[in-house]
Amino acid sequence: MKKAIYPGSFDPVTFGHMDIITRASQLVDELVVGVLNNSAKNSLFSLPERVSMIEEMTRDLPNVTVASFNGLLVDFMNEIGATIIVRGLRAVTDFEYELQIAQANHVQDERIETVFLTADFKYSYLSSTIVKEFASYGGDISHFVPQCFIDRIYQKYSQKG
Ligand code: ADP
Repeated sequence: MKKAIYPGSFDPVTFGHMDIITRASQLVDELVVGVLNNSAKNSLFSLPERVSMIEEMTRDLPNVTVASFNGLLVDFMNEIGATIIVRGLRAVTDFEYELQIAQANHVQDERIETVFLTADFKYSYLSSTIVKEFASYGGDISHFVPQCFIDRIYQKYSQKG
C-alpha cells in the first residue's frame, strides 16, 4: 500500500495544484492532500475553507482525501502511515528550497522519500500568490481557479476593502 502526502498551504488551491493531485493520485494507492495550518503565515482563507475547497475540487478522485496538519510533516506522516511526499516543481527557483527540505525530511526519517512532479507547462507560472495578486486588483482569475471559487476569492477582497 503506497500512501503519499501532498503538503502545502493551498491558499487557495489552483489548477496547478489540481494537476499535481490528479497525476500523483495515479501513481499511488492513496493520496492525502495535507493542508498546513501555518499560523505564522497570514492566509487569505481559513484552514476549514482551504480544506473544503480542495474537497470540492477532488470530489471525483476516489483515492484522494484532504486533511489538515500542524507541526512537523514527518510526524504527521507517521501518524497517518504515509511514506511518500509529493511536491511540484515549477522552475529552478523552486528547486533549491525543495532539495533542502527533501533531504532534511529524509534525515529525520529515512523511510520517507520525496517525489517531484514537474509542473505542466500550462501552469508553470501559476501560484496561489499570483491568484491573490490578480484578484486583489479585480483581474481575471478564470484561468487559475475553477469558476465556482472566483466569487469566493473576490469576496475576500471586498470584505477587506
Ligand atoms: P504556492 O507555492 O502556490 O503558494 P503551496 O505552498 O500551496 O503553493 O504549494 C504546494 C506544492 O504545490 C508545492 O510543491 C508547489 O511547488 C506546488 N505547486 C504550486 N503551484 C503549482 C503549479 N502551478 N504547478 C505545479 N506545482 C505547483
